[in-house]
Amino acid sequence: MRLYNTLTRQEEPFAPTAANTVRMYACGPTVYARAHIGNFRTFTCVDVLRRTLKYVCGHDMRMAVNYTDVDDKTINGAIKAQESLRAYTDRWIAAFRTDSDALGIELPEETPRATDEANLQAMGQLIADLARNGHTYERDGSIYFKISSLPEYGRLARLDHSGMRDGARVDVDEYTKDDPRDFVLWKASKPGEPTWDVGAGPGRPGWHLECSAMALRLLGEPPIDIHAGGIDLIFPHHENEIAQSEGATNKPFARFWVHIDHLFVENEKMSKSLGNVYTLEEIVARGYRPSALRYLLLSSHYRKQMNFTWAGMDQAEESLRRIVDFLARLETVTVEGSVPAIVELVDGARTAFRAAMESDLNTAAALAAIFDLVRDVNAAIDARAIGKADAAQVAALIDELDRVLGVVSLRRAEDATPPVPVAEIEQLIEDRKAARARRDFAAADRIRTELADRGVLLEDGPSGTRWKKK
Ligand code: AMP
Ligand code: ZN
Repeated sequence: MRLYNTLTRQEEPFAPTAANTVRMYACGPTVYARAHIGNFRTFTCVDVLRRTLKYVCGHDMRMAVNYTDVDDKTINGAIKAQESLRAYTDRWIAAFRTDSDALGIELPEETPRATDEANLQAMGQLIADLARNGHTYERDGSIYFKISSLPEYGRLARLDHSGMRDGARVDVDEYTKDDPRDFVLWKASKPGEPTWDVGAGPGRPGWHLECSAMALRLLGEPPIDIHAGGIDLIFPHHENEIAQSEGATNKPFARFWVHIDHLFVENEKMSKSLGNVYTLEEIVARGYRPSALRYLLLSSHYRKQMNFTWAGMDQAEESLRRIVDFLARLETVTVEGSVPAIVELVDGARTAFRAAMESDLNTAAALAAIFDLVRDVNAAIDARAIGKADAAQVAALIDELDRVLGVVSLRRAEDATPPVPVAEIEQLIEDRKAARARRDFAAADRIRTELADRGVLLEDGPSGTRWKKK
């Protein structure tokens, strides 16, 4: 497997340090609102990386994706909603899990919350270790990281040291690009804000500290193998995570840094003022299925910016449907026996798919390998140059490759819970067949339209009528 490492700005061969287990951390959502499709581009690409490491490279995973459940945004949101921070963030965590499941994102081994007691304790310990190593100072009850105490500071983001302002402090979690300042590790209590005391005085953690503490607590001896997130996190968040972790442990924090580039909508940055911040719910409300969105999100390379358009959604739906229809067509092959050329096609497609994924997750090339197979096997079906056993092998290969992509299995899961109960759909198909048999085409059309209005499409083919979700 070759993976681009932001730390070295190069593609490098990747293998885990500890036996066969990949220890990976990805920064999770800040749980103050429904995650948008940009967030889900990152989480879907992280999921594809996880699945590639598991199903292509054969590694075991030990992966943590956190919930940031205490920061400026969550605290303000809870105050506005007049709820406790815990109750407020519980709701957004549940919403995130619902959307992640709908998008076929595998549940990581660990999903820590920053405010879990063990994590807060780990943050207290991290601050104590940093203090012991001379990297901290206190001002007005808050504890800061002194970046001039760590000569390596800025290595990930490639910052210019001459721009570092000694003693200039920043309290907010995010700050201007290329303006490195001493950042806050622990913020002194403010009236109305939740407060903990884990040895650094009454207050609450800074966002950067949370991730370092959870990664070090849950994933074992540093360096961990991979740390991932969206590209906007390189600075200051990941730079500061490195400073905290390395300042405390005197060991490298993560070997590989993987960053997913941003999703834009119709060529614009998503923003509330432009009204283009879409959630999965909104995509579904427009008649699209989560499986089509997953397909779209993984179809372009994760290191390139991606432009979301509704036309792109239509194309994703069409492409996914081509694969699903092809799988249905394979079932119509009834000729006994096997044709050697098909076995070769299957082997070739597997090799091309795996090579593409092992080349820094080239999902576009991996999908192209699948569509080459679809085209060639369709031609073989037309020419009756394929046997039943071959067709089964082709279908098995697509299932195998879909363990990485997770789109066909997701569509099947969606179909298994259709908007109309299956028994009712089947009864209506029978009623329609009977109506046609007595040449009552108006009644037959009514049934079709009624089902379409309820989200179920009927398709008449040589082997009878099939239904699918709209
Ligand atoms: P947040 O909930 O804001 O902490 O973000 C969760 C993840 O989504 C982080 O890894 C961000 O870098 C990522 N992210 C935020 N906006 C976008 C976007 N427009 N495209 C892709 N990823 C994004
Ligand atoms: Zn983080």
